[in-house]
Formats: sequence, C-alpha cells, structure tokens
Amino acid sequence: MSDESRARVPFSFELYPPRSASSEAALHETIARLAETGPDFLSVTYGAGGSTGGRSLEVLRRIRTTTDVEPLAHLTCIGNTYAGAAALIREFLDAGIESFLALRGDPPAGVPEEEVELGDLESAAQLVQLIDRVQAERAPYTESGIPGIPGAARVDRRPHVQIAVAAFPSGHPRSRHPREHIDALLAKQAAGATLAITQLFFHPDDYLGFVARARAAGVTIPILPGIMPITSPARLRRVLQLTGEELPSELAIALEVEPTADGQRAVGVAYAAELVRAVVDGGAPGIHLYAFNNHDTVLAVLRDAGILTPHKETAR
Ligand code: FAD
Repeated sequence: MSDESRARVPFSFELYPPRSASSEAALHETIARLAETGPDFLSVTYGAGGSTGGRSLEVLRRIRTTTDVEPLAHLTCIGNTYAGAAALIREFLDAGIESFLALRGDPPAGVPEEEVELGDLESAAQLVQLIDRVQAERAPYTESGIPGIPGAARVDRRPHVQIAVAAFPSGHPRSRHPREHIDALLAKQAAGATLAITQLFFHPDDYLGFVARARAAGVTIPILPGIMPITSPARLRRVLQLTGEELPSELAIALEVEPTADGQRAVGVAYAAELVRAVVDGGAPGIHLYAFNNHDTVLAVLRDAGILTPHKETAR
C-alpha cells in the first residue's frame, strides 16, 4: 500500500483515569498531544465495579472541553443494578458524552472469573440495549412535513449514540466453544452496537482470520483492531496474565535480549508498527492503540507504520 493511502487510515487511542496528581498533569499533556494528531476518538477505561467511574468522567469531560476530539466512554455492567446502570448512562449523557464502549467488565482485583457477581445485567449485549433505551428517552420527538401532501408528516429518525463493544480475536476466556464468542458478538450487534474494538493480539492473522469468521457468521459492523505496543518484558508478562493470550515467542525473545529500556521500547514500537501495516493491508477499517497514558510510544508506532505523516501531525 502506498504512503498516500496510509495517510488516510483512521486511528484512535485508549487512555485510563490517572491514579495521582502528577499522573493527572502528565495525562493532560498526553491528551493535548494525541488530540493534535486528529484521532477519530479518545476512549477512557472504566474500573470494574465502578472503582474509577468519577475519574473516568473527569477525563472524558477534559477531552470534550479542551479538544475537538470525540470522547468515548467505556462503561461496565459488572456488579451494577439495572437502575444504577441507567443512572450512570444518564450522568454521562448529561455531561455531553455520546459515544460508549459497552462492556461486561473485568472481575474486581482478586476475584476469580467463576465467582464474579454479575449484577442485574449479565452481558455487554444487555448494556448495549440499555444505553440505546436511555438515550431514546432523551431524544426529542420530532416530525417533518411530507412535500406535496398538505397536513401529512413523518416521524424523524432519532439520532443514535455510537455504541462500541469488545471483540476477542482469540476467543473470550469465558467461551466454551470458539463459535460462542462470535455468537456473543452477533448478539451485541443485534442489540444495537455500531462498532467492535478488539482485544490486543500479536499476529495479523489472529485479527484477519477472526474478521473473516465473524463476517461469514453475519457480523457487519466495523471491527477495529486494538493494538498495544509492548515495550518491556515486564509489560509482556503482565499483559499475558491479564488477557490469557499465548506467548508471542519472537517478541518475547527480542525484548529479553535487548539490554536497555530504550532498545526494548524500539523493539516494541517496531513490532506494533509491523502489525499495524499488516492489518491495514489486510483491510482493517482503522487502528485503535492502547496508549497507556503516554503519547510518545503510540505516536512513534503510527509514524513508523506510515499512518501519521508530518502533514497530518500538524494538520489541526
Ligand atoms: P460479554 O460480551 O458480555 O461476554 C464475554 C464473553 O462471554 C462472550 O464473548 C461469550 O464468549 C461469553 N458470553 C456472553 N454472553 C453469554 C451468554 N449469554 N451465555 C454464554 N456465554 C456468554 N474491562 C473493564 O473492566 N473496564 C474497561 O474499561 C475495559 N475496556 C476494554 C476495552 C476493550 C477494547 C476490550 C477488548 C476489553 C475491555 N475490558 C474492560 C475487558 C472486558 O470487560 C472483559 O474482557 C470482559 O471479560 C468481557 O467483556 P465483554 O464486554 O466482551 O463481555
């Protein structure tokens, strides 16, 4: 693919709420630097069981008021009541947030998957429906006249919020069969999801094969690949622990043999950039990067992959 066409690949970033005053100042700088490059949206994670809820909303408000980038709110259902989840959605809508990533949610720290208390909403598909319903309550009823037929009117279509959902190229650990996860994605699409964002993966074929299986099963919404630059052996271990992905041996070895932190970062950036190039060449509709609240690494990945050109970086 030529650099010309790569320059038009849409991209977005994931951030998480800061854990201290100093990391909050650094995050504000990161938001500004990422926003300058013109991403489609900046998403902000939501802690399991509501543990970071207020702080997520603060970050989303910051994005909305200090940049012209769309803020996208992760929302989780684990441990929440139906009324509690509806109130939360209203709070986000009141703050002007109109894009969501509806998730079941990670188990709270230390709670094994089989002991998770789900609450009233048992799956992300139910949260998608609830977001759609709460938003519909608020959308004003409007109608327009039909030209040429005096007195006749048609009900205007109400605008829908964007509702993204998670997808897992290597299947979800809760799935009892490889096909079950695709069925769950179909259920989320039927509930009103407009976009899927994938869990991180390490090989282009993990993503491309998954998209092909999902399309064959009837998934029509865009499936955005989620890519995480892995810049140290410690981060690789942590990510494998959290996601249950298989060890990518070539990346693991390349990180282990590199003696310096700068060298390891360069390995991680180059690996992620290669992944970006391969999935874009394979037809991915854009790239979603897990930024870890640091702009330098993800911007280096986009530059290396030829997606971020100097022109695009200074375009806004
Ligand atoms: P669901 O779609 O509800 O279900 C997950 C899987 O369970 C399905 O794929 C299917 O295999 C199975 N399943 C679902 N319904 C049924 C059913 N009725 N019967 C049988 N099996 C079923 N977690 C957080 O806490 N906060 C975040 O901000 C966050 N952000 C994320 C962002 C992305 C892009 C991704 C990929 C994950 C994120 N997560 C986050 C993690 C996510 O919440 C967990 O991975 C969770 O275990 C699954 O969430 P889900 O929304 O896919 O769940």
